[in-house]
Amino acid sequence: MLVRRTSLATAVAATLFCSLAFAADLPPDQLLKKAEAEQKPYLATVKQLVDIDTGTGQAAGLKTVSAVLVERLKALGATVETTPATPSAGDNIVGTIKGNGTKTFLLMIHYDTVFGPGTAAKRPFRVDAQHAYGPGVADAKGGVAMVLHSLKLLQDQKFKGFGTITVLFNPDEETGSSGSKKLIADLAKKHDYVFSYEPPDKDAVTVATNGINGVFVDVKGKSSHAGSAPEAGRNAAMELAHQLLQLKDLGDPAKGTTVNWTLIKGGEKRNIIPSSAAAEGDMRYSDLSETDRVLADGQRIVQNKLIDGTDVSFRLDKGRPPLVKNPASEGLAKTAQTLYSKIGRTVEPIAMRFGTDAGYAYVPDSQKPAVLETMGVVGAGLHADDEYADLSSIAPRLYLTVAMIMELSAK
Ligand SMILES: [Zn+2]
Repeated sequence: MLVRRTSLATAVAATLFCSLAFAADLPPDQLLKKAEAEQKPYLATVKQLVDIDTGTGQAAGLKTVSAVLVERLKALGATVETTPATPSAGDNIVGTIKGNGTKTFLLMIHYDTVFGPGTAAKRPFRVDAQHAYGPGVADAKGGVAMVLHSLKLLQDQKFKGFGTITVLFNPDEETGSSGSKKLIADLAKKHDYVFSYEPPDKDAVTVATNGINGVFVDVKGKSSHAGSAPEAGRNAAMELAHQLLQLKDLGDPAKGTTVNWTLIKGGEKRNIIPSSAAAEGDMRYSDLSETDRVLADGQRIVQNKLIDGTDVSFRLDKGRPPLVKNPASEGLAKTAQTLYSKIGRTVEPIAMRFGTDAGYAYVPDSQKPAVLETMGVVGAGLHADDEYADLSSIAPRLYLTVAMIMELSAK
């Protein structure tokens, strides 16, 4: 009897301890304090990363930063594997940290930027009272540092309640992730939760992103002398102009699909009737059925020609897929809102018009993994000279990742 009572008491105590572990050991305001203390080392990491150019394709800079990231992950207790991101320059870096629990997390972000060689030397990292500046400071080196310093906070707390935390840093997001998209999709499937660290432009988490496709119209005509025999030609440029007007409403505002014609070319000389002309357009969408719909509509529409004897074709290249609005992502946003409210802040769930790597992580019609985008530092001026990261967002956002991992690990 005595033995039984003791074991029951122990069991009750253990249950109580488990369910209160997060709240009792680390109240949200104390975790936020630790995150505030982490801001200075966070900024030192961002400076180290920003002051080395890693424009997509710049092999030397990508290699230098890759070596830094590998060492940092190892110091955080990760086993690290690097593989060349062929056909892109640079390595995909995968770090794995094992815990004692069951839930699995993938934290991912790119370490390439859009900036050319010499940019870091021209405008190196600097801070003023409110902002940090430099090439890629928010997009996405601030996100890379967010991952590293969130893991540091978990390590400092000796928190091991997760099953696995996998980190992926890829070197080619800014040109479409051709050398990392397959790895992202493969890794994502093996995890319960995926957090991506692109920067939001306000304190927000993103539950839906757009997919991106390219659309193309090619016209073949027939050249002839524009002065002495124009009637012998078939003017491809005129046909293209006709086609673009016909194709101007290929988008669907109700579904959030946009199609914008952005590049045209045609003709060789002013005195020759052009024998070829072509246009390219940018398509953004969030409804997966829109890719097939736009292709079918485009192919149907171009059959109505202005000039007999021209040849017109319409095609579509699939790019980054969307993170479609889905219950799993919205569930994560709710958790984020609850955890943020505990430190007296609000975080807004948003849908964004950008396309990001979160699209490769999302599995259509599945609850796994649950994907959340823009877990990075709040920033603005992305891809521009005045890009900045908002200093006041650093601590709350470090808190958010750490609290999310602790909370979701206990589920
Ligand atoms: Zn980015």
